[in-house]
Amino acid sequence: MGGMPSIDHAARRSRLAALLADRDLDGALVTHPANVRYLTGLASSNAAVLVPLDGTAALATDDRYAEAAAQSCVDVEVISDRDVAAALVRHAGRQGWRRIGLERDHVSLSLGERLAGTAQDQVELGDLGGAVETLRADKEPGEVALVEQACQISAAALAALLADRLRGRSEFEVARDLEARMLALGAEGLAFESIVASGPNGAIPHHTPGDRVIAVGDLLTIDFGARVGGYHADCTRTVMVGREPADWQREVYELVQKAQQAGVDALAPGTTTTQVDAAARTLIRDAGYGDFFTHGLGHGVGLEIHEPPWLAGDKATASTLGGRSTVTVEPGIYLPGKGGVRIEDTTDVGGDGVRVLTKTTRSLLVVD
Ligand code: ZN
Ligand code: ZN
Repeated sequence: MGGMPSIDHAARRSRLAALLADRDLDGALVTHPANVRYLTGLASSNAAVLVPLDGTAALATDDRYAEAAAQSCVDVEVISDRDVAAALVRHAGRQGWRRIGLERDHVSLSLGERLAGTAQDQVELGDLGGAVETLRADKEPGEVALVEQACQISAAALAALLADRLRGRSEFEVARDLEARMLALGAEGLAFESIVASGPNGAIPHHTPGDRVIAVGDLLTIDFGARVGGYHADCTRTVMVGREPADWQREVYELVQKAQQAGVDALAPGTTTTQVDAAARTLIRDAGYGDFFTHGLGHGVGLEIHEPPWLAGDKATASTLGGRSTVTVEPGIYLPGKGGVRIEDTTDVGGDGVRVLTKTTRSLLVVD
């Protein structure tokens, strides 16, 4: 599986600093935990970083993390304070900066009001937008390697799960079994709480595994992933339990499989996210199932399980795929009262063409 790739956080901060001049900002106040981790390496529930146009970045965190911050972030100034964002606003004021940008999607109304009170006439508060997410959407080789490790563990855990008998066990039991296998194979944690949806429950895209017992004739949808080095895997497979599929089950499965392949085939750097979504959705719509594919085609995967770019028809979130991205492709068809099918892969786009990282068969398996 290899070791942890080394990551250059200072280079990331430089790339962020390069975006500040265009936004008329002297600094970026980054408060979203995944973005703080991206820029400093510190994984903390209470930390913020101030990245200047030029000069030394300041990282604020409380006493619980101050030691870890001082050790891992040697090239930033560490400020120990419980009220991390306010401490950095005061820091910016002391530096004599005119205007710093806040992350518009991550600052709550109450935090925004408190920061405005702290800033007063010391420093102006501006809009950083989603600048860090934009940087994060374009993946470094070391990040792809971690996503790939997480995907390998996920695929191996699924293969082991499917080799054992599933019928007669509850969804809940199967979910915990799969999760234990991922941890035993070296996952540091779960990417998210697994979805195990059997029979009619498969019509609910985000079904919570419950006490329904898996039975012969069920379509069984399993959506799951491991986490490695902070990076996530996301994979869904739908299998047939105990017997060959009924006609409707085969028809829906084959349609979702074709749509999923069309989505993967449409991926390329420079392609718009709406084009990729349309490539898969058109097939499902033309077959008459458009009303039963009720979510976007996919999403970025990285330090968060769901992050930009968003593969969907919605123009408001549309973007162009960058030089290298890790995204999911996950069409589904959900038939109320009957069941559903979803097939999802995590892919690496732009490194060496398009690579599917969740390597496990997409053909319909009949399992015991
Ligand atoms: Zn998923
Ligand atoms: Zn997903």
